[in-house]
Amino acid sequence: MSILKIENLNVNYGGIQAVSDLNLHIEQGELVTLIGANGAGKTTTLRTITGLVKPKSGTLLYQDQDIRKTEVHNFVRQGLVMVPEGRGIFPKLTVLENLEMGAYYRHDHAAIKDEIDHVMQLFPRLKERATQLAGTLSGGEQQMVAMGRAMLSKPKLLLLDEPSMGLAPIIVQQIFDIIQTIHSQGVTILLVEQNAKLALQISDRGYVMESGKVTMADKADVLLNDPRILSAYLGG
Ligand code: ATP
Repeated sequence: MSILKIENLNVNYGGIQAVSDLNLHIEQGELVTLIGANGAGKTTTLRTITGLVKPKSGTLLYQDQDIRKTEVHNFVRQGLVMVPEGRGIFPKLTVLENLEMGAYYRHDHAAIKDEIDHVMQLFPRLKERATQLAGTLSGGEQQMVAMGRAMLSKPKLLLLDEPSMGLAPIIVQQIFDIIQTIHSQGVTILLVEQNAKLALQISDRGYVMESGKVTMADKADVLLNDPRILSAYLGG
């Protein structure tokens, strides 16, 4: 079953067409990457899926329901969870409080505690820093908090917007390892990344966006070996 299905999506900002006739689907359990240059429309696509941007036209189905009819505050309850570009953590709250915020709509306190323990195992660095204010963490640690908080929301479809942005290569590798771990635990993921090679290496399929349009869509290993992708996005 497609957990997400987008057909003929058009999004404008005033006179600028940011997304043109976009078609995209994600099957249950997949890890799918959306790659493309700056300004290609990747973030706009994610923001439209989560209701933050209203499309001009198109069909958006999440678990066969029309996303455009869903109230934005219900998305997280339904398992549609985004980690935005720039992480969106609460800087004045501690690491632990940030994680708890991910479970704000839940009342199963014992399960929440177990899941916080699980997130702390996944990110041992956060365990060490549980009482530190999140705004004082390094960029990589903040990304871990944002992803940990998203896990506490029990995502069915996790949207990750450029999780490697601004991070040192060794930290980027850690973040990608954690994305793979989260995926292996059954979470379906849509990953937006500039770091096309690493993203495609862990993905089932990929979409390439240029100037608001999908120009290629294929299995990740096919894209990884495509000469056009190699020269445009993989530096080879
Ligand atoms: P990046 O990798 O740089 O984040 P992107 O692929 O995510 O790029 P978008 O952020 O979706 O691209 O932007 C697509 C186009 O829409 C760009 O031309 C951008 O300038 C424009 N745009 C994005 N947000 C707005 C806005 N709020 N108002 C007007 N134009 C916008």
